[in-house]
Amino acid sequence: MKYLMDLHTHSLASGHAYSTIREMAYMASERGLEILGITEHAPAMHGSCRELYFSNLYMVPRNMCGVNLLFGAELNILDFDGNVDISEPVLDKLDICIASLHIPCIKPGKKEDNTRAYINAMKNRHVNIIGHPDDDRYPVDYDALVYEAKRQHVLIEMNNASLNPNGARKGARELDFKILEKCVEYRQPVIVGSDAHIDVDVGNFERMDELLKEFDFPEELIINDSVDKLKAYLDRR
Ligand SMILES: [Zn+2]
Ligand SMILES: [Zn+2]
Repeated sequence: MKYLMDLHTHSLASGHAYSTIREMAYMASERGLEILGITEHAPAMHGSCRELYFSNLYMVPRNMCGVNLLFGAELNILDFDGNVDISEPVLDKLDICIASLHIPCIKPGKKEDNTRAYINAMKNRHVNIIGHPDDDRYPVDYDALVYEAKRQHVLIEMNNASLNPNGARKGARELDFKILEKCVEYRQPVIVGSDAHIDVDVGNFERMDELLKEFDFPEELIINDSVDKLKAYLDRR
C-alpha cells in the first residue's frame, strides 16, 4: 500500500507541536507524499491558534517542496450537540476539517452522549474526518458511528499516534479492531493519519499500517493511496 497523503498534522502554531510548515512540507516530500494536510488545533485547545490564524491562511502557498498542502483545523467538539469551536464564515475558508473529542475541551459522557456528539458533529457539512475515535476515555457505539459516517460521507480516521505506547489513548488497539469490523460491514472508508506534532512524524503510519495488515483490512477502503478517492470525500461542501 502506497501512502500518498497525510491529512492530520500539527505545526508550531498548535502550541504544543514543534516544527514549522516548511519543515513539515520538506519531510512530506522526503517521504514521497503528494498531499500534506496541516490541521492545527482549533481555539478551544489551550495555547493553540485563534480564529484569525485560520482566516488568514489564504496567504500561505498551497505547494511547498513539491507537496500539495491543505490547510484546515482539528476542530474540538464542544458538547454532545456536536458544536465546534470555529465559526461558520471561517470554516468556509478551510480546505479540510477533522472533528475530535479532546479531554481539555469536553468531559467524557456516557456511551450514548459521546456517540451523539460525533453524530451531530458529522451533520456539520464542513467536517470531513472524525479524528481518533479510538479513545477509551470516550466510549462510543461504533455501529452507530460508522453507520452515520457512511450516510454523511465522512471519513473515519485510523490514527497512528493513538498506538504510541507513550500516548494517552491507551485502549486504542482493541477499539481500532472494533471500528474496522464495522467499516468492513458498512463498506466505510478510513483515512490513516499520523497526527504528527513534529516533522519526523509526518507520514509515519508504521504502527497503524501494521495493525491494518494484521486485521487484513481491505486496501480499497483505505483512502491514502488515491487522490481521486480523497476528492470524492472532500467535495462534500
Ligand atoms: Zn486530536
Ligand atoms: Zn491532532
